[in-house]
Amino acid sequence: MSPTFRGDWDRWPPDEYRERQVAKLRQFLAQQILPFSPFYRRLFQEAGIDPSSLRGPGDLERIPFTTKEQIAPTRDDPQRAREIVLQPTRDLLVKHSSLGRKIALAVERIGRGEKAVRDRLNREYRPVSVFFTTGRSALPTAFVLTRLDLDILEEVGKRIVEVARIDSDEDKIISLFPYAPHLAFWQVYYAGVAGTVFTLNTGGGKVMGTEGILQAIQKIQPAFLVGIPGYIYHVLREAHAKSMDLSSIKGLALGGDQVTPGYRMRVRELLETMGARKPRVQSVFGFTEARKCWTECPGESNSGFHTYPDLELVEIVDPNTGKPVGEGETGELVYTTLAGRGSCVIRYRTGDLIIGGLTRKPCPHCGRNITRLASQVERVSNLKSFQLSKVKGTLVNLNIFKEELENDQRIEEWQLIIKKKNDDPFDVDELYLNVALSDRVTDRERERVSGDIGRRLFQVTEVKLNEVRLMPLKQLLELLGMETQLKEKRIVDLRAASAPKPGEAVKR
Ligand SMILES: [Zn+2]
Repeated sequence: MSPTFRGDWDRWPPDEYRERQVAKLRQFLAQQILPFSPFYRRLFQEAGIDPSSLRGPGDLERIPFTTKEQIAPTRDDPQRAREIVLQPTRDLLVKHSSLGRKIALAVERIGRGEKAVRDRLNREYRPVSVFFTTGRSALPTAFVLTRLDLDILEEVGKRIVEVARIDSDEDKIISLFPYAPHLAFWQVYYAGVAGTVFTLNTGGGKVMGTEGILQAIQKIQPAFLVGIPGYIYHVLREAHAKSMDLSSIKGLALGGDQVTPGYRMRVRELLETMGARKPRVQSVFGFTEARKCWTECPGESNSGFHTYPDLELVEIVDPNTGKPVGEGETGELVYTTLAGRGSCVIRYRTGDLIIGGLTRKPCPHCGRNITRLASQVERVSNLKSFQLSKVKGTLVNLNIFKEELENDQRIEEWQLIIKKKNDDPFDVDELYLNVALSDRVTDRERERVSGDIGRRLFQVTEVKLNEVRLMPLKQLLELLGMETQLKEKRIVDLRAASAPKPGEAVKR
């Protein structure tokens, strides 16, 4: 069936909409997930849950979580992610269709023929596209989309253009997201198509080169630049070096990495020196498993990510206990698909911490009645365990490193290298920070500043750097792979390379 999207998705009555979402979930589980998803059919059977017993939001907790580990491919089972794909067979379709749908199918078969029915079912269920997760710890997980899911991706693209108040009559977009089978690139592509906004999808520095992108910016005079924060900053710095006029820029939409307060300040300042007036710096947030992105609406303060109550259900839980936390409280984002085919997840633990949690109050800027997520997101993958002494491991939040370093105006670029001492897997961990200082730092100050950076990081993280290496910007940009990587190599963890292979004798 082609999905029909209701124009009132952002105006559901606040006191009703959680109930409505549970009703939608009940129906989705009964008609699609349990009949056609091998993974969830098993999970619900084992947990002994009948979808009809889910009466209200309080019952959601009874559904077990799904974790990355349960669905990510392993060396032994590379096809594991297929288990969450809806896979109807003819028999299953007949058995699980509602009476209304059975009649509709029969009528269509008589009126338009067997082929028409088959075409429509293919459109609904046959995977036609795929995105991969980008995590570095696990093997990439494939999330497939059917033609119906691409319709949803388009609808979401249209909503993003509306929420971000991009004016399709005059605003043009240049996207710097890397060309890859990743959500971000394609979400922007579909936002342009569905929102009828002229968009140049450059494919990023690796495809078009920064020089080519700068020329395109001069020609097209875009209102918005969209991309990964680290690369966008690099492009703006290059534009500044060429004294380019960027007065056409109304704002940046940033995704794929955290946007720290220090970063916001830097890019705003850079844009303003190139003629932009009060540029908006906002984040876009999405993850492969959701197969869609969210954005903020413009306003004086951060409005938070605007979610889509008719397509998904979001919860925030305590990462340790798994219990839901109250509105406005920090916790882990848990995601449930309410519409779609292909790869669908139910109560999926994203591993992302939303600092400040969610709110269901109408948005003070645009008035939409939707769940909004606070726009500060910390990826749990940036919480790394370190063996800094032979005695005990320490958990270090590298998000704090990032925040501190981007806040420091004396630092132009940085890269953190984590390795094992002497490359010996059983030795302690070592941290090296590569730094290119800003032009504002004089030669005389350099040594003092590098000592100061190490001391300040020690104060906020209690981790002592083994060395701060100062280097020219050009050299650091090469090490970061700013022009050659899909995403710059900001934090490089070399420890896995020296990890013992399975079966290797442990020496202690
Ligand atoms: Zn809003």
